[in-house]
Amino acid sequence: MNTRLLSPCESTYKDASEILKNGGLVAFPTETVYGLGANALDRQAVLSIFAAKGRPADNPLIVHIHDRNQLDPLCDVPERAFPLMEAFWPGPLTILCVRKPAVPAEVTAGLPTVAIRMPSHPVARAMLQACNLPVAAPSANSSGRPSPTTAAHVLEDMDGKIPLIIDGGMCDVGLESTVLDLCHGEPVILRPGGITREMISSVLKCDVAVAGSVLRPLREDETALSPGMRYRHYAPKAVVTLVSGKEDRVVPMMRKLCLEQEALGKKSCVLCFSEHVTSLSDCRPHDIGSVTAPSETAHRLFDILRSLDDEGFEMVFSEVIPPEGIGLAVMNRLGRAASFRCVQAD
Ligand code: AMP
Ligand code: MG
Repeated sequence: MNTRLLSPCESTYKDASEILKNGGLVAFPTETVYGLGANALDRQAVLSIFAAKGRPADNPLIVHIHDRNQLDPLCDVPERAFPLMEAFWPGPLTILCVRKPAVPAEVTAGLPTVAIRMPSHPVARAMLQACNLPVAAPSANSSGRPSPTTAAHVLEDMDGKIPLIIDGGMCDVGLESTVLDLCHGEPVILRPGGITREMISSVLKCDVAVAGSVLRPLREDETALSPGMRYRHYAPKAVVTLVSGKEDRVVPMMRKLCLEQEALGKKSCVLCFSEHVTSLSDCRPHDIGSVTAPSETAHRLFDILRSLDDEGFEMVFSEVIPPEGIGLAVMNRLGRAASFRCVQAD
């Protein structure tokens, strides 16, 4: 199959709409990462998403809408979701709702809940409006690869597998949406993302829990509340190790670890804050943004993780950021890229 890469314009939206209505797949930009979309009501189309990504069938998809009028045929919305929709939609918040029969079981991997989101990216919104369908879309990467934040990343993974990629430039947030469960008692963040725990808590005026496996590996006997958490994810081929501790200890420790591995013949590098690039200049530093700007780290992270593979690194040492605000989402993705391997520099 020939994969076309088109700029967003009226004729592109028309083509995308035709493809989606005929059961095909379209990759499109959102404010979080690029999505791989299909008509959520078309079982065969949904199955072809799993095939293109090599995604396990038990990992459910998020359904994207552009208008709240689309909700009723798809799901029952929990009462507490409405103030959150008011505050954060359109935007990077996915809310679990109770699935209605119109949604094929393949979308939800057989779960009684369906994950719904209204993206804010103007290209995603224009495409959703043009087709006027609910669009099931996971991230547009091959399963196990870091999510794509540019059209070039999508092309790397999907060339020849899908007919159309809409190029909307680099995604703003850079990490996937927050997945929030309001269907089972207290609100629980299953996956942290662009809408933070603090933001949700301030609207609901109550505590919001975070699933235990967000900052540690899932235990053998533990059921994943969000099936996606079970899988090795966001993982470059290199062995990634996080280095935490006091700033004055972390930088020398990263340098020592990196140069030791290099001396053993392993191609190594560091992921460090802009402020530390100079002190680590002999360690092939990859700049994760300023220590004072965690959203910059979120924005760059997946692009950096992909580049590690392209550059053939074997050992990577990374600084960490506090798991607060958007930092929680960053540390979830970085932690999983490192299989939660961490060295304490104090
Ligand atoms: P992706 O589209 O790649 O961002 O993946 C979607 C994420 O949402 C995965 O981590 C899924 O496990 C999660 N998800 C989707 N639907 C549900 C659901 N009904 N219950 C729990 N998690 C879900
Ligand atoms: Mg994904």
